[in-house]
Amino acid sequence: MEILTISPNQTKKTGTILAKEILKSSLRDKAFVFGLEGDLGGGKTTFLQGFTKGLGIGEKILSPTFVILKKFEIPRTKASLVRGRRNPEFKIFYHIDCYRIKKAKEILDLGFKEIISNPKNIVAVEWADRIRQIMPKGTIWLKFRLVDKNKRKIVVKPR
Ligand code: ADP
Ligand code: MG
Repeated sequence: MEILTISPNQTKKTGTILAKEILKSSLRDKAFVFGLEGDLGGGKTTFLQGFTKGLGIGEKILSPTFVILKKFEIPRTKASLVRGRRNPEFKIFYHIDCYRIKKAKEILDLGFKEIISNPKNIVAVEWADRIRQIMPKGTIWLKFRLVDKNKRKIVVKPR
């Protein structure tokens, strides 16, 4: 699937919609993991700003940041307000940015294996192609392309 956005807000909105869908999905046996890759300035962080908003997180994701891993609590109220479907009650959203890392081991040392094995976690990894060898099998890959000044292409490659 491909999405073309013509403004940062549209990219954010796309992230918000996706997050709300995830909250409605049923519980799996492992964390929900997204691998974001593609151009610098392609909109990965912008997308995740909308994504966290959709999860009901008030805090804003920053870019650029020198933080490799940031943990956000997914508010229970927002998650349990989603009607009509079984609610897995996701608890923690992890934002990981591999832009500055040199080896996948740096991510493993942060407890990556445990993080991706907990079904209550939602994990988004920017520059995930840099740690492709440790990304789980079920990763949903999102590829960001800078088309022109205000246009971005997001290619979704499901598992
Ligand atoms: P990345 O995390 O992929 O390096 P960012 O989200 O940090 O990218 O940066 C994207 C930049 O491009 C932002 O400054 C944003 O305002 C700008 N931009 C312009 N048009 C778009 C668009 N359609 N979608 C997302 N960002 C856009
Ligand atoms: Mg970024």
